[in-house]
Amino acid sequence: MHAPFSAVMPITNRPEIIFTEGKGAWLTDREGRRYLDFVQGWAVNCLGHAPAVVVDALKQQAEKLIHPGPAFYSEPMIKLADLIVEHSVFDEVFFATSGAEANEGAIKLARKWGAVNKQGAYEIITMQNSFHGRTLATMSATGKPQWDELYEPKVPGFIKVPYNDIEAVKQAISDQTVAVMLELVQGEGGVIPAEPDYVQALRALSSEKNILLIVDEIQTGIGRTGSLFAYEQYGIEPDIMVLGKGLGGGVPLSALVIKGAVSCFEPGDQGGTFNGNTLMSAVGTAVFEVVSEKGFLQNVLAKGDYLRRQLEKISERYDLKGVRGKGLLLALQTGPYSATDIMYMALENHLLINAPRDNVLRFMPALNVSLDEIDEMCARLRQVLEKIQSGENHSG
Ligand code: PLP
Repeated sequence: MHAPFSAVMPITNRPEIIFTEGKGAWLTDREGRRYLDFVQGWAVNCLGHAPAVVVDALKQQAEKLIHPGPAFYSEPMIKLADLIVEHSVFDEVFFATSGAEANEGAIKLARKWGAVNKQGAYEIITMQNSFHGRTLATMSATGKPQWDELYEPKVPGFIKVPYNDIEAVKQAISDQTVAVMLELVQGEGGVIPAEPDYVQALRALSSEKNILLIVDEIQTGIGRTGSLFAYEQYGIEPDIMVLGKGLGGGVPLSALVIKGAVSCFEPGDQGGTFNGNTLMSAVGTAVFEVVSEKGFLQNVLAKGDYLRRQLEKISERYDLKGVRGKGLLLALQTGPYSATDIMYMALENHLLINAPRDNVLRFMPALNVSLDEIDEMCARLRQVLEKIQSGENHSG
């Protein structure tokens, strides 16, 4: 399987397809075959493949200035930070390149805040089934049971509790607790939304106990769930938010976004050569301007509703277990059928969808996906389900 491309480290089971072009909802491989993409680089290309705004921002900024270094200001860095602050309840932004790196920053900031304000409290309560990244600390924060034994010993200080269970959080709080960290929709965990009552109770509890509420919006942020940030739908103000994926519209860009009241990094506490990268910030600014344009998010909600209804029809027709999620982060529960098999058969049918769990298919198309593309995706998925119901599986 890996032999033909053996110089590329086999860190995942890549299909033997080499993509050479992407435009909007479509990818093209070296043989000229076209694939309909409802994964979009794992919810990264929020405006689709190679949108003009991203290409133009890259070209224009690359000709002017790529990156003067992390210890200097650049105009795009300031502009994007201002935009995020203006459109949210937060006051300060630190830019990084991957979601994990920004989450790592959130963990460090919480620990520093605990050192300064809570006699060195450092424990962070995180959720079972959560996903926060692949650095050692973010893997330690992640609640993925398959990782329990990997890369031991882990970074200490993460207490895992069941999701959507406020009593479990109450039980886990000690005088060492500094923060609670969660995704408002668990993406990799199978597209499971947090309950509104639970999130509101978490906010109240965190304030009462003087601990920080950190929302990992790496997957849910930048319009993915139909509001600019998912926390807005819960009527709460977190202390810290983390962004990634869609923020860069396909380029590596992430952000640690905090309330002024919790700001405690001093010069030297946090950094990284690529932080505030000028080229990436210019792209992030262009993407942010589109997503925050009047009417854009209403469209995301309308497309999300449409996709949901189509998936519900598919669920009924093929006796599956229903649809869940928010906006354009949706999942179809496949019940008795292996989502992984469906994913591979869909790929054979030139459709990219994703299976975060073996009974869950995840759909995260570009936020500007068209109704025709949704219809085409559903038609291809139905063809796969017909085959599965007649007894075929992906190996034959
Ligand atoms: N947090 C969440 C909620 C994610 O979905 C992901 C990636 O899937 C990450 C963190 C890690 O982001 P990255 O892969 O950019 O490090």
